[in-house]
Amino acid sequence: MPDKLAKCPRCGKIYAEQPGKAMCARCNTEVLEYEDRILDAIGKRGLRQPEDIAEITGIPLEAVIELVESSALIGHEIEQERLCVACKERFAQKYCEYCFHCRLSLNKAFGDAVKLIGDIQSRELAVKKEQARELDFLPSVDNALKHKRDRRTLRRPDPTPKSKYSP
Ligand SMILES: [Zn+2]
Ligand SMILES: [Zn+2]
Repeated sequence: MPDKLAKCPRCGKIYAEQPGKAMCARCNTEVLEYEDRILDAIGKRGLRQPEDIAEITGIPLEAVIELVESSALIGHEIEQERLCVACKERFAQKYCEYCFHCRLSLNKAFGDAVKLIGDIQSRELAVKKEQARELDFLPSVDNALKHKRDRRTLRRPDPTPKSKYSP
């Protein structure tokens, strides 16, 4: 039985029609691949403008526009888009409150903050160590004993009831 022939609406090639395929096999593969890349550009990079998407994906602009208008998946993805909470201009990335740009700069700021906190902590630690050393060499015996006692009370009590088991 010969295949039913159809003209591909996308490239105009005559192809053997297959159930559920509105295009020739080559166009079909290409569209699926484009769709994937466009979804990525919208979801992961927060892009919204067809021009931006075309530039980042390398897909021809007309194909991007055509797919954005025709693909249910892409339409759904765009509807889910929210504005970035930081700049309120670009769209937030998927699973994130920020757009690609703000996330990059926030990551940098966060990294700087972590480094700063690390610096402060190590400086505080150095001061504490210095103080502890001074306490250990207190000139007064009374103070030294008191310091020792304080330290002992800080120790966790032994949970084993010694009196019962020790001779
Ligand atoms: Zn085709
Ligand atoms: Zn932003």
